[in-house]
Amino acid sequence: MEIHSWSLKELQDHLRKGDLSPREAVEGLDAAVAERDPAVQAYLSRDLESALRLADEADVNLPLGGIPIAIKDVINVEGQPCTCSSKILEGAYLSPYNATAITKLRAAGAIPFGRTNMDEFAMGSSTENSGIQVTHNPWDPERIPGGSSGGSAAAVAADEAFAALGTDTGGSIRQPAALCGCVGLKPTYGRVSRYGLVAFASSLDQIGPITKTIEDSAMLLQAISGADPRDSTCLDKPVPDYTAALGKDLKGVRVGLPREYFAEGIDPQVKSAVEAAIEVLSSLGAEMVELSLPHTEPAIAVYYIIATAEASTNLARFDGVRYGHRTAAAEDLMTHYGRTRAEGFGPEVKRRIILGTYVLSSGYHDEYYLRAQKVRTLIREDFSKAFEKADVLLSPTSPTPAFRIGEKVDDPLQMYLADIFTIAANLAGICAISVPCGFANAESGITLPVGLQLLGPAFGEEALLRVAHAYEQATDWSSKKPPLAPAKSGA
Ligand code: GLN
Repeated sequence: MEIHSWSLKELQDHLRKGDLSPREAVEGLDAAVAERDPAVQAYLSRDLESALRLADEADVNLPLGGIPIAIKDVINVEGQPCTCSSKILEGAYLSPYNATAITKLRAAGAIPFGRTNMDEFAMGSSTENSGIQVTHNPWDPERIPGGSSGGSAAAVAADEAFAALGTDTGGSIRQPAALCGCVGLKPTYGRVSRYGLVAFASSLDQIGPITKTIEDSAMLLQAISGADPRDSTCLDKPVPDYTAALGKDLKGVRVGLPREYFAEGIDPQVKSAVEAAIEVLSSLGAEMVELSLPHTEPAIAVYYIIATAEASTNLARFDGVRYGHRTAAAEDLMTHYGRTRAEGFGPEVKRRIILGTYVLSSGYHDEYYLRAQKVRTLIREDFSKAFEKADVLLSPTSPTPAFRIGEKVDDPLQMYLADIFTIAANLAGICAISVPCGFANAESGITLPVGLQLLGPAFGEEALLRVAHAYEQATDWSSKKPPLAPAKSGA
């Protein structure tokens, strides 16, 4: 049985019918990872023994009973490493507790399986900033899988995971999902608890699902959503039945096309894939509405002020005193701090701490940080106005398909531009999803997935899932498998 190629829903059906046991599911997945991951490098570690123990206890009648889920290495799972792909935590930290998203997954019967690679502390768009390893895009091993949740997306795309959790601060679920040909959903800020997620930028971070299908996305979102007394920013709003949003038609649904998101700079093949998707949605009965998000241009600058400011404070806790790497070369307290951090953090993390400290420093605080907060409010208002005219908004997820490993590492500004369409959703706190919408033909005959982004108002996940599902059902993009996930003969 080629069980690893199943979606989460298919695995659930087979487990419930008794075609296989949760133990066999974990073992089958583990075998696929052992075979494929040497080429993909999506996983940093996996604890088969504990996954098998949980599999043996699993109740398959629970919502996700017996289903293994890959976890981005920034979310705490009790007893497991949580490196954030950083030398400052690698080999020096085991989680003493579960993140709330994990507690909820466990309550739904799911099994945390393996830790996936990422950009260090989730800072990046290619997973090349990992302090541990480089992950390869399953569609072309010479290309990046996107980031920062590149390990999670590559694992799902290569059939090395049925589904995965990622995190999204400025696009880190959606962009890698787009570049690997998966579905990635960033929930509304406050939908999913951040307790136990190692903080990058606390006012922007959200945990969310990376999956093979929209239905799987709804199922996983269902399991991790909801209030948490341990995260005061997580809202006490009822969690709807997300799968009930699926299977509805699109008559009367208004899809907004933000003018600024179709400006120059988009790869022509990405553009034509997205335009074709607009045609499909129209043919399904959706009404297209042209509109404007006038404060789109400063969004990247605003993000890189707010995110770095918050990161500089959040990362102050890595001081070699309480946990993580500790320098062997301390002469006094200041050299202890300085050398611990110099040895432990990689170059992008250092760049952001320096930038963030600068924008918060006295004399510059008002000019940068405060001003960025004001523009953030304008960006949020742009979206409120847009959602008076449209139920969801549509854009490309990423302006280009996956780029080559090494292509942008020496040019951080170029790398930052990869997030041009995803960042505003985090600044506004709204929800967004990326859905496969076709392929671009790169030179040398390589095909690379393209992602369509749908944005919804705060707590509008049902509308996103409804539109995304109708689109997915009307198209066939998910049936094509990447070369690094070959279907075995007879599969
Ligand atoms: N690529 C963006 C950054 O580098 C977003 C990262 C993320 O969403 N975690 O900050």
